[in-house]
Amino acid sequence: MNLILMGLPGAGKGTQADKIVDKYGIPHISTGDMFRAAIKNGTELGKEAKSYMDEGALVPDEVTVGIVKERLSEDDCKDGFLLDGFPRTVAQATALEDMLSSLDRQLDHVIYVEVPKEDLFKRLTGRWICPTCGTAYHEVFNPPQEAGKCDKDGSELMQRDDDKPETVDKRLEVNMEQTQPLVDFYSEKGYLRNIDGKQDIDDVFADVDALLKGSRQ
Ligand SMILES: [Zn+2]
Repeated sequence: MNLILMGLPGAGKGTQADKIVDKYGIPHISTGDMFRAAIKNGTELGKEAKSYMDEGALVPDEVTVGIVKERLSEDDCKDGFLLDGFPRTVAQATALEDMLSSLDRQLDHVIYVEVPKEDLFKRLTGRWICPTCGTAYHEVFNPPQEAGKCDKDGSELMQRDDDKPETVDKRLEVNMEQTQPLVDFYSEKGYLRNIDGKQDIDDVFADVDALLKGSRQ
């Protein structure tokens, strides 16, 4: 079960990743975790990646791809993996195809948790946080009893810069521009599976689960 999980910010990708890992016991491989591990273990590629990151530079594809390859060659990936955050570009996707065929494997599904932009915008901009106790609220999905006030201590709720409308809009635009070529690439290759991410979390997972069960038979 060799999977890629894709979705824009706010699509609920992280939640679905946890559920897939719980049920199917394959490792969740996120780029962030992979980089941290490679750097911590002091591998050659880890050192190389760190030298770019220390300068605030983008880690070149060949380094990233090398780190992914090392990770996918580990024992726990032999029955499958769930890649998250990689590939980010068509060049990386092509490199992944080559890498997998050199490991004598191939992708099964690219799961795309699809949510319209206006819904993502609503989800992402509705977050408010209590500066005193850290409790998180959402205007629509988990509102405080009294608007703008923490239920626990009455503090005035705040919005993080990341959750402000103009920041969210920009982040979604950038992500959509980045994601679309990959969606097209995997669609042409026949790997893309669109999952309706507008549904409740459990219904989204029911769809993912049905897809994965089908592929096991
Ligand atoms: Zn509070």
